[in-house]
Amino acid sequence: MRLITASVFHRRINCPGSALLEAQVPSIPAPEALEGSRLHELLATGQGEENADIRWARETVACLVENLLGEGQSETYYEIDLSYGAEYLGRADFVAVNRTSALIVDYKFYRQENIPPSERQLALLAVGVWDRWCVKKVYAVYVNPLLRATSSVYAYDSTNIEEILLTYLEVLVKIKNTPYTQVGPWCLYCRAKCICDSFSKEVKELWQMGRKIRSG
Ligand code: SF4
Repeated sequence: MRLITASVFHRRINCPGSALLEAQVPSIPAPEALEGSRLHELLATGQGEENADIRWARETVACLVENLLGEGQSETYYEIDLSYGAEYLGRADFVAVNRTSALIVDYKFYRQENIPPSERQLALLAVGVWDRWCVKKVYAVYVNPLLRATSSVYAYDSTNIEEILLTYLEVLVKIKNTPYTQVGPWCLYCRAKCICDSFSKEVKELWQMGRKIRSG
């Protein structure tokens, strides 16, 4: 069982107990997730019906590569699995690498402004890129073709890579030794909501608070 991957890193940091609880619940992809997978595949393979959003995404990523890595030759990879040593860290949607630096792009397909994705996902993917290509700098950005939006560009070097690795190890220890649960925005995509006592207690309290406000 993979206790931490990039996509759940933020949740594991804030709620280490989610690792063991989520492992008890089967993963059933939501319809939006299936649509997201189709668009990811279209961006990775170029096979399928291309529309204006996908063209915008391709042009945006090409500009990011040129601005951040320069006009020289970069190798590009799609849907690439990243690890640190033997530890699997997650899959990057797109990576461009030259001799000294790299760019990671993670596509998001939210149709509405939502809770912004946590930078932690990109941070863990940056560890995998840094480990694999030994570059000095790793840039990372979220790109949402449906909102025609990009996040800030995050930059990682050996100093913050070490900090991320330290956090990763600390969270692993918490999951194994003190897997407490803590409710927060990271619950949104947690599939353990249906069996999580902390979450149901919080929902009950919010419900009662709402009833009090409604009854004046
Ligand atoms: S629902 Fe929230 S509190 Fe419960 S395990 Fe998931 S992330 Fe943690």
